[in-house]
Parts: sequence; C-alpha cells; structure tokens
Amino acid sequence: MKKTGVKKSVVNEGEQIQLATEMIKLGARLQLLESQTTLSRERLIKLYKELKGMSPPKGMLPFSTDWFLTWQPNIHSSIFLNIYNYMVENAGVEGITAVLKAYSLYLQQVGHDSDAEPVLSLTRAWTLIRYIDSKMLKLKGCTCCNGSFVVNAYDLNQNYLCSLCHVPSRAGKTKKAKQAKEAKEALTYKLVDSSVVA
Ligand SMILES: [Zn+2]
Repeated sequence: MKKTGVKKSVVNEGEQIQLATEMIKLGARLQLLESQTTLSRERLIKLYKELKGMSPPKGMLPFSTDWFLTWQPNIHSSIFLNIYNYMVENAGVEGITAVLKAYSLYLQQVGHDSDAEPVLSLTRAWTLIRYIDSKMLKLKGCTCCNGSFVVNAYDLNQNYLCSLCHVPSRAGKTKKAKQAKEAKEALTYKLVDSSVVA
C-alpha cells in the first residue's frame, strides 16, 4: 500500500509539472499557477524561469468585470467563452483543463502570433470563467446576428445588440475591429462545422 502511495504521488507531481508547464507557455501568472497546481511557489518560480528565461511578473489578478464588457475585449471574451462552453459540452473536459484547451483554440481562432500580446490573456480567460460560474457575467444572444456575447448578468439586456452589430463609430474603423469581426465570423463557421474540436 505504501509503495503504491509513493508511486502515485510521483505520477501526480509529473502531472502537476506538465500542467504548470502548459499554463506557463500560455502566459499564466504566478498567482494563477499557485491556485491551480499543488506545486510550491519556489518550484513554480524555478519552472517559470527555466521555461521563460526570466522571473514571473509580479502583480495581482484582474478583479473587475468591467474589462470584459469593453468593446474589443468583449468580442475576444465572447469568442473564448463560446469555445469553452462547446468544449465542456462536447469534449468531456472541465476545470482548468477545459480553460487551457479552449484558450489554445481561441489563440488559433484569432490568428494570434506568438510575438504579440493576445487581447485576452490566459489569466483573464480564467477570471472570466470564475465570473461566469459566480453568475456575475453571462452569455446573451444578439437579436440581430444570433451570436452569443458576454454581458453583465445584472443588466436587463432586453433586445440586446452585440458590439459587432452595434459598433461604436470610432471602434468600427480600426484594423483591430476588422480582425475581431473576421475572427468571430470564422469561429461561427467552424462551430457550425464542429471541426473546432476535431
Ligand atoms: Zn450581433
């Protein structure tokens, strides 16, 4: 019995390191790593330095729902959340695993290249799921395009129009706005095609 226990904990540690490695590669902050793995802070810092060649940035996790409701972040958050829900419903994943899988697919969908900072960081993506779970934010269907978007759960949102169908004049003209719209259209197509989890 004792031997099995030892073996099990080694396997578990291997899994934890693998999980932490995946999270670090996707841009997780130390606070997120500490909350989702059983590894010590010292080991996580060591692992982070080894993988990234630098110390993890300091700073707290974002703690406001407002960011997810501003124009461009809202589109990216909605893309991520649609993928996440699809993964949870169809791919039998949950928790941090679902967040990581959905986040990888999100980066692919928005055509993210590794040199630039993605609009939605992994830490924000994880925070978004916490806000959804605690029912502060939710998805709401747009009455114009039928797409589902992140909204404040406490707002009425009657005859809701998403930020792509109701574009603020300034935002609609930017290159990023065009990219976000294209990414969303590509996503809608792929989700219908269901090749997103293939
Ligand atoms: Zn819409």
